[in-house]
Amino acid sequence: MKRNTWQREAVREALDDTEGFISAQALHAALHASGSPIGLATVYRALGDLAASGEADSLQSPDGESLYRACITTGHHHHLICRNCGLTVEIAADEVESWAKRVAAEHGFTGAAHVVDVFGLCANCMRPARDERG
Ligand SMILES: [Zn+2]
Ligand SMILES: [Zn+2]
Ligand SMILES: [Zn+2]
Repeated sequence: MKRNTWQREAVREALDDTEGFISAQALHAALHASGSPIGLATVYRALGDLAASGEADSLQSPDGESLYRACITTGHHHHLICRNCGLTVEIAADEVESWAKRVAAEHGFTGAAHVVDVFGLCANCMRPARDERG
């Protein structure tokens, strides 16, 4: 099947314009809002392509939804994600790397890979109203 490069580019650009992680459906809606005729299935495929080629990061939200983002950091890294506003911090986690390597070796696994993303509330989303005691 022929690869439609402009569609991949459109998805890539929309992803670049997005802060934090976004679902295929939300990205599709954003593209539509800006007048693009791109189809949802094409958005899914383009996101899968971008993730496979390392141009985008993908992760599973706690609800099991696939989310995507064009990350600044290239190569292996982890994320700290605010589940309220979507703020994403890219982090290196040396402890996780050595732990994953050790635990895999202990069980005789080689070529082990891992995905570790931490969801929580960022400082901005912790309403100061709760903090009025002092
Ligand atoms: Zn990332
Ligand atoms: Zn937040
Ligand atoms: Zn890691």
